[in-house]
Amino acid sequence: MTFQSLVKQAIIPQESGFMLTTSFDQESFNQVVMSTYGRFPLALERGVGCRVWDNQGNSYLDFVAGIATCTLGHAHPAMIEAVTRQIQKLHHVSNLYYIPEQGELAKWIVDHSCADRVFFCNSGAEANEAAIKLARKYAHTVLDIANPIILTANASFHGRTLATVTATGQPKYQKNFDPLVPGFHYVDYNDIRAVEAAVTELDEGNYRVGAILIEPLQGEGGIRPGNVAYFQRLRQICDEIGILLIFDEVQVGMGRSGKLWGYEHLGVEPDIFTSAKGLGGGIPIGAMMSKKSCDIFQPGEHASTFGGNPFVCAVALSVCQTLEKENILQNVQEQGTHLREGLKVIALKYPQHISEVRGWGLINGMEIKAESSLTAADFVKAAMDEGLLLVAAGPKVVRFVPPLIVTEEEINQALHAVEKALAKVTA
Ligand SMILES: *Cc1c(COP(=O)(O)O)cnc(C)c1O
Repeated sequence: MTFQSLVKQAIIPQESGFMLTTSFDQESFNQVVMSTYGRFPLALERGVGCRVWDNQGNSYLDFVAGIATCTLGHAHPAMIEAVTRQIQKLHHVSNLYYIPEQGELAKWIVDHSCADRVFFCNSGAEANEAAIKLARKYAHTVLDIANPIILTANASFHGRTLATVTATGQPKYQKNFDPLVPGFHYVDYNDIRAVEAAVTELDEGNYRVGAILIEPLQGEGGIRPGNVAYFQRLRQICDEIGILLIFDEVQVGMGRSGKLWGYEHLGVEPDIFTSAKGLGGGIPIGAMMSKKSCDIFQPGEHASTFGGNPFVCAVALSVCQTLEKENILQNVQEQGTHLREGLKVIALKYPQHISEVRGWGLINGMEIKAESSLTAADFVKAAMDEGLLLVAAGPKVVRFVPPLIVTEEEINQALHAVEKALAKVTA
């Protein structure tokens, strides 16, 4: 059975013989699962390609993709094949031993990026933790800085562990979790003067800037692409004083931007960068990449029990190879342009509500005007009623991050749903 015929059949689940049977009760769920998430009243149970079904049999076009994660959509044959093959062979053994699949995935990443070395973990926050630890060790041992400070950007997002939530330049994520981790300082994004000032002003006694951690495009902070001149000057500053430039590519990397890595849009290479979300196409994996000169961890200094196990590495490798074999980056560029142009046409009809449509490839945001009473959350709800799943990126930005295999027809369906939803919420 080909993937396309699978999708076609699955669009009408009853006729295809798939029955939706899961019974689900929200109350019982809430009694046993901690209330860390504000969830939509929707229980999803099946997906194929860019479409998902809830337990009532309603279907939705999935422009969330597990939050920019399901690179190849749902139930992709390449992932099914890799999952099935590897689970039967060997799934977990720990890093006490050599793991050939880990080596193969690292080789693919090294061959397709500016990196020379890879460390595997299980999530974006963990990848950033690893980068923060590596940067601190580099500052202590190579740069001889007793108290290194890591510069990060306001409105950034780097994760929820204590160090990464401290690195995240958004006080709303830090509230009540103090004392935070020392050694971070925040500057406005795309503002080079702020970086220059911090580098000079923080150079006191034992304190000095030891690294800069930044997203090539701010994701959670509102889909804000990095400015080329700014990033090139950042690279220069880091080279001049010998400190490390670290890119958080957790959301924008792995092809989502239309190039494999976000830094390719900026004409600069980082010393260290991190990946997670799209890397495994939806299975949990994170990775920190670095140049050879930063490969200074000694055995025992950093580790992860699950990190880079045979199962996740085999599946992530199948995602990487499929991305390449099926020339998916070209699809990301074409469909991304089509989506942005369509959204811009719609936005022009609502000048009092929509201020801007922006993004790279298939990571796009539609910003609602500050003066408008409409919120991103209101719009996401309205779109859901039209059969389109979306996610907000902050209070006023609606994010569009479909699987990278999305078709032109699916983009058109999504645009139609956006138009209907906007008409309703602004009526
Ligand atoms: C999602 C995200 C993270 C955190 O990833 P988790 O897997 O949730 O820990 C870090 N940085 C960026 C840019 C992200 O988008």
